[in-house]
Amino acid sequence: MDKSRRNFLKIAGIAALGVTADKFVDVHAQDTANKVIKKTIGSGKETVKAKVDRKERLAMVVDLRKCVSQKGCTKCIDACNKTHNIPDFGESKDEIKWIWKEPYENAFLDHENFYLTDEFKNKKVPLFCNNCDNPPCVEVCPTQATFKREDGIVMMDWHRCIGCRYCMAACPYGSRSFNWRDPRPFIKDVNPDFPTRMRGVVEKCIFCEERLAEGLPPACVEACTEKALVFGNLDDPESEVRKLLKDNFSIRRKPGLGTNPEVYYLV
Ligand code: SF4
Repeated sequence: MDKSRRNFLKIAGIAALGVTADKFVDVHAQDTANKVIKKTIGSGKETVKAKVDRKERLAMVVDLRKCVSQKGCTKCIDACNKTHNIPDFGESKDEIKWIWKEPYENAFLDHENFYLTDEFKNKKVPLFCNNCDNPPCVEVCPTQATFKREDGIVMMDWHRCIGCRYCMAACPYGSRSFNWRDPRPFIKDVNPDFPTRMRGVVEKCIFCEERLAEGLPPACVEACTEKALVFGNLDDPESEVRKLLKDNFSIRRKPGLGTNPEVYYLV
């Protein structure tokens, strides 16, 4: 049986079961994502090769010890939202998040334990797109609306996004958001220097590539008065990020998946 006929029968079968088109996309996307994740796990060789070939690898280091000491602080989130015209729909189910906070235990399931130091217990920590070195979201995108740059940033081309949400299903970190509604009326103070998005488009943190192009640090890094966020080139042994990682113990989110996340947390 040829592939298109097989696909048609698959869709027809699902329709007969009364499953909506949205549900079909979710199921199909999850299936594709699972295959990509399976392929990604244990693919250390590709990651090592990528490291040898590249010249620059941009990454974020978050000093959680400094960050959690500032209870209730949202300076990084506020700066990001303002810079990137992120709408506030007022409902968590529609939330668009580039930086968001979750309790340490939820964010670092691999590192959670009963005797966790009080310093981190139930403390909210900032989360981002990890701009992974081996990003499953890129592999599943059918239109190449999301792609990885040579410096490691996982980009979004909103004009190419068809809203299939495969990337959302593939991302094991929940780092992508979908505009279920037209976001424009929900932006408080429009920044004319950054594009607004439209309904049906996925978005996420892109390490402020537009600011980097002008020689500026990411907006969150600039806004953090505690200097808990540090951004730089991992391939430069003299960079601050490299020095911090050399001198401190760091963890990453779900490292076992082989995605090689490039946001590091000092604990
Ligand atoms: Fe893709 Fe998710 Fe990794 Fe970001 S965190 S690069 S969205 S897989």
